[in-house]
Amino acid sequence: MSDWALVTGASRGIGREIALKLAADGWSVAVNYASSAARADAVVAEIESSGGRAVALQADVSDPDAVSSLFAAIADELGPLSVLVNNAGITDDGLLLRMRIEQWDNVLNTNLRSVFLCTKAALRPMLRARSGRIINISSVSGLSGNPGQGNYAAAKAGIIGLTKSVAQEVGSRGITVNSVAPGFIRTEMTEALGDTVTDAAVQQTALRRLGMPEEVASVVGYLASDGASYITGQTIVVDGGLTL
Ligand code: NAP
Repeated sequence: MSDWALVTGASRGIGREIALKLAADGWSVAVNYASSAARADAVVAEIESSGGRAVALQADVSDPDAVSSLFAAIADELGPLSVLVNNAGITDDGLLLRMRIEQWDNVLNTNLRSVFLCTKAALRPMLRARSGRIINISSVSGLSGNPGQGNYAAAKAGIIGLTKSVAQEVGSRGITVNSVAPGFIRTEMTEALGDTVTDAAVQQTALRRLGMPEEVASVVGYLASDGASYITGQTIVVDGGLTL
């Protein structure tokens, strides 16, 4: 039986495509979601119909108790994790002067605290196994900033700093830690922005189009593969030339 990969926030969007890609590459996939149970089940069904192995696991990854239960269930029912993809994320935009503390906390907790919690939980068995891959989904907002996204940009920049730090902490034990920074990708997160924002983003993108979730998933698949064995602490930008 193949080794397990956990993808957080895999019920839709980029996480869904990452789950499908990892399954196509031969990993068994734990499909985490917060509230979209039916959509997570549909991802599992799609993987199984192609001959793969997957399970759906509900957990709010910003919640320490929920993350403890999630990793306990993985250890008891599935076995050791070889790959962790920290993908779950939300936006709650607003100019800083108008941003409520709840907006700040929700975005930081869902996008950054979750990465701390899941990475810590995944590392113990990876350290024992002396191997593992951790892939964190950041954003070009974390590299360049973005007006109206102070909370989100801070969380995504935090992911990059965390990635570089943990990569140095665990590299001697055969574990790689990398991040992927997408630009504008066609998902429900960007659909919510409306045509004006999307059209402006397309005009600033060298390839003159939005990216597709599959185009982020293929890079994650590579980082999880044997071919990426000497890459760690890096942030790979997948933005069609938006930040050039
Ligand atoms: P999306 O379509 O809105 O999907 C978000 C996913 O995260 C869903 O599966 C959702 O689960 C899950 N999620 C949200 N909060 C969660 C929580 N507390 N615990 C567990 N799961 C949770 O978003 P997306 O566009 O695919 O984005 C995926 C990642 O890529 C995010 O980290 C995002 O910041 C990053 N990103 C996206 C873009 C873009 O242009 N789309 C660009 C750069 C970076 P439910 O369905 O159960 O709510």
